[in-house]
Amino acid sequence: MNERPSSAMFSHKYFGKELGHLIGGKSVPPHSDQMMPSFNPATGEVLAYIPEGTAEDVNLAVAAARKAFEGPWSEWLPWERHRLFMRIYEVIEQNFDELAYLTTLDIGTPITKTLGMKQYALKAITYFATQTTNIGGQTLPNNIGTGVMTMTVKAPVGVIGGILPWNVPLVGLWWLLGGTLATGCTIVLKPAEYATMTILRLVELLYEAGLPEGVVNVVAGRGGVVGQALAEHNDVDRVVFTGSVQAGRKVIMASASNVKRVQVELGGKSPDIVFADAPMELAVPGAAMAVYNNCGQVCTAGTRLFVERKAHNEFVDKLVKFSRQMRIGPGIAHDTDMGPLISQGQLDRVMSYVDGAAPEGATLVTGGKRLGGDLSQGYFVEPTIFCDVRPEMTIAREEIFGPVISVIPFDTEEEALRLANETEYGLGGAVWTQDLSKAMRMINRVKAGTFWVNCYDWMDAGVGMNGYKLSGYGGKGGPTHMDNFLYQKSVYINHTYSGDVPPVGAGLRA
Ligand code: NAD
Repeated sequence: MNERPSSAMFSHKYFGKELGHLIGGKSVPPHSDQMMPSFNPATGEVLAYIPEGTAEDVNLAVAAARKAFEGPWSEWLPWERHRLFMRIYEVIEQNFDELAYLTTLDIGTPITKTLGMKQYALKAITYFATQTTNIGGQTLPNNIGTGVMTMTVKAPVGVIGGILPWNVPLVGLWWLLGGTLATGCTIVLKPAEYATMTILRLVELLYEAGLPEGVVNVVAGRGGVVGQALAEHNDVDRVVFTGSVQAGRKVIMASASNVKRVQVELGGKSPDIVFADAPMELAVPGAAMAVYNNCGQVCTAGTRLFVERKAHNEFVDKLVKFSRQMRIGPGIAHDTDMGPLISQGQLDRVMSYVDGAAPEGATLVTGGKRLGGDLSQGYFVEPTIFCDVRPEMTIAREEIFGPVISVIPFDTEEEALRLANETEYGLGGAVWTQDLSKAMRMINRVKAGTFWVNCYDWMDAGVGMNGYKLSGYGGKGGPTHMDNFLYQKSVYINHTYSGDVPPVGAGLRA
């Protein structure tokens, strides 16, 4: 039998070290000497030690970001920003394998998947490079007089606080970096406790590409300390949070300190609707991987799987077959389809949902167990499917963030729609059908910010993603993405130099 690859077979300059924050372009030791271990979730081994940042560290990073913002950076011309993006493209392209291996070891995502994210990252960099020349206001008509020209101009918002989740560091960061660098904002990033190394290394690479000092800063640490300090900081102009609803609520409240702009991208419990006329060769692996991707730790995971009753049994049989042939193992092995969960805490959480499903009346049709043997040191669970799930059951309502599918049958299109919308979330959703009219009705009536037809989890920076209800507000990507990083000023110009236009406007003279 082949030896399973372990992190001991790979080396990285971070491994075995106590890491610092990255402030003003340099590694900076933390204010306190408290460190937290970063584990390889496939083996339970400690990879490195991450600083437990403090409010003092946040102050230092925000000051560096402010200084950079008030310097020449925010007035760079579009071509200068574009040129920086081109250098970043090259550095990221050259070093992507290192980033992919580091991410796989740190969070468990299969290496084939992290290596595959290279194309996504490079396309996102290219897209945001094009946005540098796409930032402008409008000339607007007015009812004041012909001697008055009116227009809007845009200006960068300032210092951004970016609070990140751990599940997709290689991809998620570009939503923030793209807008920050294209507009002339600066940023302080707070990586998730479990995925700090990828963010630190990626930002180091930005500096290797020529990023001016202090434009991007990283403060590692706990959410309740570093995240909270960033969200309430009076010199942060906008906070962007991606994570759970519980923490998102705290960020919204903390942001009230200086009424900073706030964007929250939160959880989901997305409906995936399979009609009997679906292209089954797509729908079976599509519905399975809509949940098993990243071991179910994807915010848009299609965990509520609605299957038209006349196709239900055949579909479930095929889904079970697909699930049982999945290869579970350390992400570092090239033949792994699904890696571990991120942590012992996440494993316990997923298992508590699995163990609680049968007593509520759901039927376990495959999976449901933690993996033992030579995987027993890691946080591995089997791909799991429950049938006979009713919408009111806990597994059908709450975000599990694990490889657990709840199959719910339906008879009519109206019923599918009602069930799909019976959730407090509204992040993603999909329909599988060959009937375009039916698909259009679902697109229009499912209350979700991102929707797929005969595919799942495709994402493009130019198209973006959005949320309804508890899934948050402020969307990422797409044509309005840059506006999130910009103030809009309304400008009135009297170009008559005469009394034809009253010097003071509305309300003061009849
Ligand atoms: P989490 O909410 O536990 O943590 C997210 C980030 O917030 C971390 O950096 C954490 O340290 C920080 N944080 C925690 N408490 C905080 C506080 N009081 N103040 C400020 N920051 C705080 O979420 P997670 O476990 O890292 O990620 C999983 C969750 O994120 C899931 O709910 C998932 O659906 C969601 N998610 C959403 C999207 C999206 O785009 N909508 C993308 C990825 C993940």
